[in-house]
Formats: sequence, C-alpha cells, structure tokens
Amino acid sequence: MATAVISMDPGVSRFVAAKHRMLINGKWVEAASGKTFPTYNPATGEVLSNIAEGDVADVNRAVAAARAAFESGPWPKMSPSERGRLVWKIGDLIEKYAEELAQLESLDNGKPLKVARAADVPLAADHFRYYAGWATKIEGNTISLGLAPADKFHAYTRREPVGVVAQIIPWNFPLLMAAWKLAPALAMGCTIVLKPAEQTPLSALRLGEIIQEAGIPDGVVNIVPGYGETAGAALAAHDDVDKVAFTGSTEVGKLILKAAAGNLKKVSLELGGKSPNIVFDDADLDRAISGAAGAIFFNHGQCCCAGSRLFIEKDIFDKVVDGVSQHAEKIRVRPGFDPECDMGPLVSEEQMNRVCGYMDSGKQEGAKAVTGGTRVGDKGYFVKPTVLVNTNDKMKVVQEEIFGPVVTAMPFSDASDIVPKSNDTIYGLAAGIWTRDIKKAHAVAAKLRAGTVWINCYNVFDAALPFGGYKQSGWGREMGHEVLENYTEVKTVCAAL
Ligand code: NDP
Repeated sequence: MATAVISMDPGVSRFVAAKHRMLINGKWVEAASGKTFPTYNPATGEVLSNIAEGDVADVNRAVAAARAAFESGPWPKMSPSERGRLVWKIGDLIEKYAEELAQLESLDNGKPLKVARAADVPLAADHFRYYAGWATKIEGNTISLGLAPADKFHAYTRREPVGVVAQIIPWNFPLLMAAWKLAPALAMGCTIVLKPAEQTPLSALRLGEIIQEAGIPDGVVNIVPGYGETAGAALAAHDDVDKVAFTGSTEVGKLILKAAAGNLKKVSLELGGKSPNIVFDDADLDRAISGAAGAIFFNHGQCCCAGSRLFIEKDIFDKVVDGVSQHAEKIRVRPGFDPECDMGPLVSEEQMNRVCGYMDSGKQEGAKAVTGGTRVGDKGYFVKPTVLVNTNDKMKVVQEEIFGPVVTAMPFSDASDIVPKSNDTIYGLAAGIWTRDIKKAHAVAAKLRAGTVWINCYNVFDAALPFGGYKQSGWGREMGHEVLENYTEVKTVCAAL
C-alpha cells in the first residue's frame, strides 16, 4: 500500500494537536468530569486527538444555555432576514476554510481527501445557503371557519420555532450531517445542542469555531462531544429539550424514541437502509454497471442509502456482475491522503470487524465472493470492495445493513417479480432503477416502499430534495422544505370580531 503523499495543511496540524473542549454558551470549556476521549486515524489506528468527554452534567449546562438563548438575548429578537444572513455566512466561511475542513474530515473519518473536497465540504456550504433563504419564507395561513359566518371570526396560523433541539449525528458524513441538522434549525430560529459521533468529532468542533466567527449569538449552538450511551442518551431524555433529531442506526433510533417519551419531545429519525438497486435488461448497461458500483462503493458503502441489494434481470446477470466486479477491482484502496486513493479505510476497527463478520456469515450461508471478501493488510481498517453472489432473501447479508463496501447480487425475472423482492425488507430508505423504458421506470418507482427512488442515477443529493425513510428507515424528512416541519410548531390564532 502506498504511503500518504499530500502534506497536511499547517492549520490542520495545529487543530489536530490542540486540546479540544466543548462549546457551551459561547465558551470552549472542559468536561465537568475533566475526562477526555481519543479519536483515531482509521488509516493507521493511531490516536489523532483527545476530546473533552461530555456527560450528563455537560448536557445539563448546554441545554440550559440553549434554553436561555431561545428565550432571551439577541436570537429571538433578530429579524428573519438578519438570521438568514448569519446562516448564509456560515456557508461562506465553510467555503473559506474548505481545504482545512476537507483534510480534517479525511483524517478523522478515513474518506478520500478528493471526495471530502468535491462532495462533503461544498455540499455542507450549500446546505447553509439553501436554508438561509428559507429564514425569510416562514408563512402561515388565514383560514375561514366552516361553521361560522365570515365576518364573525378572524383565524390564522403562525409557524414558530419548536424550541431547544437536541441533534445527534453519525460518523459517515460528519460535517455534512452537522449541516443537515444545524442549517434548517437555525433558519427557523431554534437553539441547539449538537452531539457529534465519538469516532469523528473534529469537523463539528471546527464548525463550532466557524459558527462563532459568523456571529451566531452565544448559546444558540452548543456542541457536546461524547459517547452515545452517556451524552447522547442524556440529551434524548432531557426534559427541557423540545425536539430530538437523530441520524444513525435503527437500533439506536428506537432507544431515542423511548428516551424521548418522558416529556413527549418531538422526534425525527433518519435511520438504516438496505436499498434495492434494480437493473433491467433494457438499461444502458455501461451506465448501469458503473452506477451500480458507485451506489455501493461510494463512501466505502458507509451510506444509509447504499445500493446494497443489486437486483439484475436474469438474462444480463453474469454480464452486470462481471462489470461491477471489474469496477470493484480497479478501486484503489489507500489512506485518504494518498492522491490515488479511491476508497479509504472504514471508520473504526469495530466497523471493520462488523463488515468482515458479515462477509464471513455470507460465506458460511453459501454466498460466494466474486471479488473481495476480506480485509486489506493488517494496519488500518481497510476492506476490499466485495461482490457476493449465490445469495438469497433469507441470508443475513441480504436482510441486514452491512454499512461497508459489500453488495449482494441477485437475479430476477420481470417487473412484477422485482417489486415484492425489493420491498422484502424492514427498511425503506432508497432505491435505484436502471432502464430505458420510462413508463416501466415510473410504474416501478410508484410501487417501491422507499423515501427516495433514483432512476438511471444514484446518490444524487441536493438540499432541495427531501430525504428520509419509509418503514424502519425513519420518521420525518431531512432537506427540502419538508424538514422545516421538524423545526416548527403551528399555532392557530382564532379571534372573535
Ligand atoms: P449509532 O446509531 O450507534 O450512532 C449514531 C449516533 O448515535 C452517534 O452519535 C452515537 O454516539 C449516538 N448514540 C449511540 N447510542 C446512543 C444512545 N443510546 N442514545 C443516544 N445517542 C446514541 O451507530 P454506530 O456508530 O454504532 O454504527 C452502527 C451501525 O449503525 C452501522 O453499522 C450502520 O448500520 C448504522 N449507521 C447508520 C447511519 C445512517 O446514516 N443511517 C450512520 C451510522 C451508522 P457515539 O457513536 O458517539 O457513541
């Protein structure tokens, strides 16, 4: 394996070496316990930085700061236009510090630096700008009462910020997930306590500095790094939090829901997936094959919407499997800082072991790896892009979310056969369809129980496109104007005239 040849930005070296505190009420403070936890470089397994470890006492301080900022101080007095300008400025500053953020993301998460530069960072900047525009477009309705003469009542609705919001995010797109959560909440006038994932806290902490530089008032955004079982659980259960927004595993999503029941806080959940990617025999095969490879191997398969169940019409099965396997074999698995890196390490040793465990279970149940199927080397958490065949609907590798670069390829006979097969999962996050027959594409899209369906493309994201899941893939939507419902309450005002 080649060694890293891109040198680290001096700002990044300084940031990584610094002592990392948490952001509460506009101040960078130690954990109340004085404890810290390590974050690792997944390309080497070495400690990158030590981070203040938030726990219940820190969550309490952060929620109190968010409550005070929500109820008094400059934030609730600010006009929507002023608020929008500050949110826009965060986008501008992300662009200003783009290289530094991309390097932090690559170091902490393992993804190729070129991908962080081309996708994570610009998408995060765009997200803040998109929601900056929404700050001035919050509207209610005037409503005529059905049972009273029009001149007797004047009734209308107001959309108001939901209040103090807890946001718990994962490690697969650390900066972008922070942007998905923070931007709409800020635009709607909420205040926030954000908990980044323990594996990847660095870009969220740097974003905290950027948020301060943008001029967001103290206490509006608080960032408490720490473990899910302690800091995360305390946030989800906190009685003074009005809403919790979570992205992560379905298993933890259910825990969040239970914890939120104490004060019946509002809950939105963006959870796991096992997305079908369907290739019909009338598809443009070159496009479909490279699209199917991208659908699973992008971000090392660590995507909730990864096209992890590849369904191929039976007469082209061998050709497509062969094509996707050839793509897999050309992927250069290297440290993220290597300019030739197409795929970096998985985020952690735990994740690598989980993915390797799934590959072993698939083989034990009779699946065959056409390519891949093992770890790469013995340093860092690298796994080979893997294509499994001889799989069936009952196997763990077909039913459970692997969250690694592993696709199961299965044949199907026609459009009527593929819909029930595709929907045979507890999840319903995304799906892909590859065909030249536009009528068939839309007919199948309508029948798939999935929050997003891509036709002749995959992994196309835009702040304007709502994203979220059917079934156990979640509650509510991120992005688009739909996400604004997560961060607002509707108040009806009815006046007798
Ligand atoms: P988790 O769901 O555990 O982590 C997501 C976030 O939730 C992290 O910030 C985590 O904290 C936090 N968390 C964990 N436990 C609790 C809790 N009891 N209360 C509140 N917050 C909590 O995902 P993992 O990192 O363990 O990954 C496991 C699997 O989850 C993956 O293999 C994948 O299948 C799925 N996943 C799905 C993602 C998605 O985008 N939908 C993203 C990440 C994972 P911390 O990690 O800091 O301790």
